[in-house]
Amino acid sequence: MHEIRWNPLIKQWVIVAAHRAVRPWRPDEKQERFMCPFCPGAPELRDLDKWDVVVLPNKYPALISNPPPVELEKMSLLLKREARGGAEVVVETPEHQGDLCTLTLDHAKKVVEAYKNEVEKLSKAEYVEYVAVFRNKGKEIGVSLTHPHSQIYALPFIPPRIKAEIDAMEEYRRKNGTCMICDVSRYEIEEGKRIIYINDEFVSLIPFYAMWPYEIHIYPIKHVRSLRELSDKQVLYLADALRVVTATYNSLLERDAPYIMVLHDHPVKGDYEYHFHVEFYQPYRDKEKLKYAAGIEWGYWVFTYDGVPEERALELRKACREALPSLGEVLGRCL
Ligand SMILES: [Zn+2]
Ligand SMILES: [Zn+2]
Ligand SMILES: [Zn+2]
Repeated sequence: MHEIRWNPLIKQWVIVAAHRAVRPWRPDEKQERFMCPFCPGAPELRDLDKWDVVVLPNKYPALISNPPPVELEKMSLLLKREARGGAEVVVETPEHQGDLCTLTLDHAKKVVEAYKNEVEKLSKAEYVEYVAVFRNKGKEIGVSLTHPHSQIYALPFIPPRIKAEIDAMEEYRRKNGTCMICDVSRYEIEEGKRIIYINDEFVSLIPFYAMWPYEIHIYPIKHVRSLRELSDKQVLYLADALRVVTATYNSLLERDAPYIMVLHDHPVKGDYEYHFHVEFYQPYRDKEKLKYAAGIEWGYWVFTYDGVPEERALELRKACREALPSLGEVLGRCL
């Protein structure tokens, strides 16, 4: 079964992909390298010449370009549609271990270029409304493969979180005549107390409105709606910020740290008020303890923040300063 069902209670689509239930969980550590589908020599990669970054189709796609037709329910409230879309994997390096921060700056730039090119390519299909680019890292997040990679989903609808941000930014623009994220960035740069890292093009900060203890957002300093509109210089400076933020998490937890990274991009169709940005969610609330999204968070969408963002900013800054020397070439500075 492969279809998209409508949840009328909260007006959201649910992707039903039966075959994903059988996808493998992490193979045991010893066997992993041998079995890794993203290492050079794996069947999918055997015929490629030397590569730094490569995009592969997801072997267990939630959405596909030719889904089976759906049989509608008799009750119109129980709405469903075809699971038409796409799912890809960006293999970021031939090295089996690592993270964005273990790549050189030039190599990390190639990763961001791959995101940009894939969004551009996938946006051309008439059924694609949104392209979601994200990176899950660590067993705490449920990542089944350790080889550094990101994922891309081409969706036939605009995700509700993006819709909520568009609605908020459009309302803000109507009332104030300016862009919400431009205004937040300007204020934060002046104020300085929540900034972790800044370069010529991007500011990395713990937002005033953080929901996760060590949440970090990366905002382009100049107004830009979409990943596809980033200049070559901005692509390089975004790669720089991504390296620093991921290194900051490793330094904070003093190990290879897990996280979720999501690109929040303008939809690929239409014309909305938006400001492209990247969000990072860190599952730990200190070096040892996980912050779980449980009853109040999952059941009600109410987040409780453990601690004070401004104090966490000081911890993140210290971690950032400690991480910088390990990174080689960097383009900005930790506060
Ligand atoms: Zn591998
Ligand atoms: Zn803006
Ligand atoms: Zn966002």
